[in-house]
Amino acid sequence: MSKSNYPELIWYNGKVIPWQEATVHIVCHAIHYGSSVFEGVRCYDTPKGPAIFRLKEHTRRLFDSAKIYRFEIPFTEEEINQGCKDIVKENGLKSAYLRPFAFMGAHGLGLNPPKVPLETSIMALNWGSYLGDESLENGVDAAITSWNRLAPNTMPTGAKAGGNYLSSILITTEAKRHGYVEGIGLDQNGCISEGAGENIFVVRDGVISTPPLTSGILPGITRNTLITLANEFGYTVREQAIPREALYLADEVFMCGTAAEVVPVRSVDQITVGNGKRGPITEKIQKAYFDLVKGVGDDKWGWLDYVNE
Ligand code: PMP
Repeated sequence: MSKSNYPELIWYNGKVIPWQEATVHIVCHAIHYGSSVFEGVRCYDTPKGPAIFRLKEHTRRLFDSAKIYRFEIPFTEEEINQGCKDIVKENGLKSAYLRPFAFMGAHGLGLNPPKVPLETSIMALNWGSYLGDESLENGVDAAITSWNRLAPNTMPTGAKAGGNYLSSILITTEAKRHGYVEGIGLDQNGCISEGAGENIFVVRDGVISTPPLTSGILPGITRNTLITLANEFGYTVREQAIPREALYLADEVFMCGTAAEVVPVRSVDQITVGNGKRGPITEKIQKAYFDLVKGVGDDKWGWLDYVNE
């Protein structure tokens, strides 16, 4: 595996160790069954030094994900928060994509794993915008895939669990095989759910809507941030079931996630969205998002956790 994108040090079970030493045994339960929970968190370079955006909410979701599966993370939320800050600091990074990760280790392969604490690590990566830095302005071509997202009574999409991402792999790889940048899954009722690693918003006649938590989505922290920003601008955001054709008839569509950030969608299933360019509401919300995460203006919700404080 190429190490080029990875800084020297990794936080592993409470210690900061060299990248090369952060390995697991082949018996590791999580490798076989996806029995892991994780987060994707971004640290941005701000005028007051590196700051991690909505760290507490991400760590809380990590613990929520573990709780759903009755897994025990042998650290407190505060210790994980501190670990995230430490790994940025120790690697001397200004910005990073952080991957807190807790997984069932090498304790046998049964499907009723023993009640042992998870192995826990935090990795920092240099990772540009997930759908490509150019996607932020130019937007992406997306397609609804033949694979649906997970139905609520199959696997809980409210948990950010390793196994869920086999669904995301099917959605993304099908979309890419057909020449698209990203795939969008439908929910169990045939309504819009989310992208493989992004939540989705639709704008028509100045009204913004986004699928509800019951449409098989991950309750995205960026989604929540954008709803808050849109409300600040005076827009109402409707969390409601969205039929597929609403994407075709939208004035604007955008996707969002910690890794992808805020990305306009310029076409869906080869139907141009609006005029095929980043729309004005998308641009306004995207700018507000980047100002917020990069510490431009005041942090009125206290969402930036400064690494050096
Ligand atoms: N949905 C899925 C399936 C994801 O993997 C992600 C990325 N974590 C999101 C939505 C967006 O979530 P967040 O804004 O919390 O990163």
